[in-house]
Amino acid sequence: MNKRFLHFGPIRRLIENRGMVVRNKDRCVLCGKCVKGCPVGAILLEGESRGLHIDSSQCVRCGTCVKLCPKEALKLEKTAGEVGAW
Ligand code: SF4
Ligand code: SF4
Repeated sequence: MNKRFLHFGPIRRLIENRGMVVRNKDRCVLCGKCVKGCPVGAILLEGESRGLHIDSSQCVRCGTCVKLCPKEALKLEKTAGEVGAW
């Protein structure tokens, strides 16, 4: 996937109109399936705290992580305005 293409303004706006990925921390067991399945490497398991981080500037809102999560801990949610890191 050509990542530069995804940052072209109108394309980026179309992507962001799909919403953003949000995680229910109570359901997440940090199995890492979403990390491995993300086609653009937008999800990271972080450090010793083993928190999950999604880089919303890289995420293309494809929904793959949502489908892969065995605990239904992720969903794409419509939000108004810009999305931020979580
Ligand atoms: S796939 Fe689901 S349970 Fe596993 S780390 Fe990702 S959000 Fe957490
Ligand atoms: S929606 Fe797609 S691009 Fe975004 S974090 Fe999930 S798998 Fe990665």
